Amino acid sequence: MSDDAVLLNDELWERLLELTGGDVALCYQCGECTAACPWGMVREKGLPVRLVLRQAQLGIENTGAELWLCTTCGLCQATCPRGVDIPAVFRALRQLAWEQNRVEKGLPSMLWSLYWNSNPWSQPPSTRSAWAGNLNLETFDPARHEVLLYVGCTSSYNRRAQKIARALVTLLQKAGVSFGYLGDDEPCCGESALSIGNQPYFEEIAAHTSQVFIEKGITRLMTISPHCYDVFKNHYQEVPPGWQPLHYTQYLAELVDQDRLVFPHPLDFQVTYQDPCYLGRLNEEYEAPRRILKALPGIELVEMTDNRQAGLCCGGGGGRMWLETPASERFAELRVAQALNTGADHLVTACPFCLSCLEDSASALSRALPVLDIAELAVQAIGERS
Ligand code: SF4
Ligand code: SF4
Repeated sequence: MSDDAVLLNDELWERLLELTGGDVALCYQCGECTAACPWGMVREKGLPVRLVLRQAQLGIENTGAELWLCTTCGLCQATCPRGVDIPAVFRALRQLAWEQNRVEKGLPSMLWSLYWNSNPWSQPPSTRSAWAGNLNLETFDPARHEVLLYVGCTSSYNRRAQKIARALVTLLQKAGVSFGYLGDDEPCCGESALSIGNQPYFEEIAAHTSQVFIEKGITRLMTISPHCYDVFKNHYQEVPPGWQPLHYTQYLAELVDQDRLVFPHPLDFQVTYQDPCYLGRLNEEYEAPRRILKALPGIELVEMTDNRQAGLCCGGGGGRMWLETPASERFAELRVAQALNTGADHLVTACPFCLSCLEDSASALSRALPVLDIAELAVQAIGERS
């Protein structure tokens, strides 16, 4: 047999069929996915999505670095005529890579931190609620609180994202919402393990976290990160009866509609909005953030060319937050350029990962474009500092 012969692996094909619920078989190789993938805008070779699918169908093992490029943004899936869940195919291929210990540098240490610290940020669990300082937050009690504020690892530990959490607390208090949180006992949602394809470890985390929610009588919760929201809504198997995870923009939009949250302090900004992939494309929530923005007096919303279902990913999903991306390959730089083209004086979003990637890129481009979370902007409109 020639050295160039390709060995087809039926066993691998069977596994992929099982892991993707049959989705991998649906692909008919049109190539729309490769054309849609944002990697084509920042890398000469792009990300050969169609080829990845073809190799998977032939049972050829994928050992290439492209396996770890996918941000699971879902843009390819939105254009796929066969509706293939392409991010799920990447996660399945990553799962096989974990089984063979073939993973990108940076991911095992993140996973170890999940294991030892219950967060991917390598921070001690005992400081999880340090962000709340002297806010005097109450521990969740189903008899007294209408909703749980699920802060998530990023807004608990990342200094920039902590400001979102504090802004949201101010808004909830202003609206008179009775809410509680879990302090240092808040468990991780597990999304970081899921997105890098470590499904077995994700399932362990999810089982533990579900149990905590069940024991504490939690049914309605709001998350700060769309990644936590997505995982609670779409990937948890065992959930308490009446389970209702919400993203905080959905909760705030409800408060606005009920006139519980009013904004008396006019602002004078023109803003453009980055749809986080995990809120927009993956969960079809495009309107709640815009309803909040439209309720802020003096705010004019101008849309970027790519918005809603066509929104461009910030580059931080699918585990890319834990991997190095060369400056020339950051989607966020393209997004900041799109935002500047609108003439807006602020770029707003509703996701800690988007905030981090976009702010880094705005500063790398030395552009005076403040990047804010919607909660931070809304706090200014109630006359408080964010
Ligand atoms: S767009 Fe869908 S059908 Fe076309 S190559 Fe990609 S995965 Fe296959
Ligand atoms: S999910 Fe996004 S990053 Fe991944 S292959 Fe599709 S378009 Fe590219």
